[in-house]
Amino acid sequence: MLKNIRAVLLLLLLFRHAFSLDTPQFIFLFIGDGMGLNQVFLTGKYLESLKKDKLVFLDPSWKFGLLKTDCIEPAKITDSGAGGTAIACGCKTEYGLIGLPDTGACESIAFILKKKKYRIGIITTVPINHATPACFYGHVKSRKNYDYLINDMIVSKFDFFAGGGILTGQADTAKSLYKNFDQALAVLKQAGFNLILNIPRAHKQLPIPLLPVIVIDTLIRNRQVEIKAAYSDEHNSLPYVIDRPEYNSRLALYTKSALTSLENDTGFFIMVEGGKIDWACHDNDAATAVAEILAFNDAIKPAYDFYKSHPENTLILVTADHETGGLSLGRGYADTSKSDVNNYGFFPGKLALQKKSLLYSDTATIGTFNRDAQAGWTTNEHTAMPVGIWSLGKRSEEFTGIFENAAIRDRILGGKHR
Ligand SMILES: [Zn+2]
Repeated sequence: MLKNIRAVLLLLLLFRHAFSLDTPQFIFLFIGDGMGLNQVFLTGKYLESLKKDKLVFLDPSWKFGLLKTDCIEPAKITDSGAGGTAIACGCKTEYGLIGLPDTGACESIAFILKKKKYRIGIITTVPINHATPACFYGHVKSRKNYDYLINDMIVSKFDFFAGGGILTGQADTAKSLYKNFDQALAVLKQAGFNLILNIPRAHKQLPIPLLPVIVIDTLIRNRQVEIKAAYSDEHNSLPYVIDRPEYNSRLALYTKSALTSLENDTGFFIMVEGGKIDWACHDNDAATAVAEILAFNDAIKPAYDFYKSHPENTLILVTADHETGGLSLGRGYADTSKSDVNNYGFFPGKLALQKKSLLYSDTATIGTFNRDAQAGWTTNEHTAMPVGIWSLGKRSEEFTGIFENAAIRDRILGGKHR
């Protein structure tokens, strides 16, 4: 009997040791929603033509892999619900579901690490209960069951949430729980979250928050009300940086604040989403997508600085849940008056002339900027193209080659941890 107990204890110790040896202590997962390979290389070429620094993760010191994004339905291209679920929970599911597998159980990497006493941060430019961030803490049959996702935020007990706002309502309106944003905030506060709601524009550093915390800048949120058509998704997101360049370091600020306040002896897991890259690509608005990718890249910089001081224990991943828009780099003029040079031309630097997103413009004007740059689009929806995954630091060698999005979770953890 005593022998058995000893053997079990030894096994437990070994398991603990293996876990602590394998899993990086500090994990950053950056998801550019809709950020296909061409979106990344358009931005890279844009910077090159303006003679500016390249994207952090395009440095040759980073490893590279190709990620397949299919959801479980062969006839359907994925959305951010199924794509995010695969990345967060390691299981393929149906279009529109959040954190629920097609069969069996699946647990997000954030919950697995939370149980190991890691601190957890979920950061996005869009609503905190939008599909991609929700996949790390939520379990709902429809990504539009926003009220259930608010409840899932409470149950998660995650340490740090930051985003543009919180949506309310349900896909099934009969079951609505919360009237509006203010009521949702009140419920979250009552559940124990500290709130940081007003952040002066010039702030370079957030106050070190008392955890758990929710960061939503209601100053920005209220300004977003001027947007035409009064989209609630827009009101609850950070503004496009092309429209309000004064806020272009906001995602970086939230990332910096998260890594400062979440650092501890056990470790942290921080997911940062550039959520509006996808929205700009749905609008076939190349200049706006490029500006969003640049702000996303700026948010990777504090993680990269952190890596430089903790290179043995840190993993940074940069990837996407799917491609949006079917972007092509070059579109050719079907115009005999143009020379061959123009037919084969690609002028990404011309996107710098565009100063407003489609929200403050019109499709004809945006179309002209696309054409001048020779950026082509094939759809307003998602595509089935694979996306890139760039990695740096501990376990980065696990993220090369071609693999499924559902493999990410266990490759980070280093084994089965269900
Ligand atoms: Zn989308």
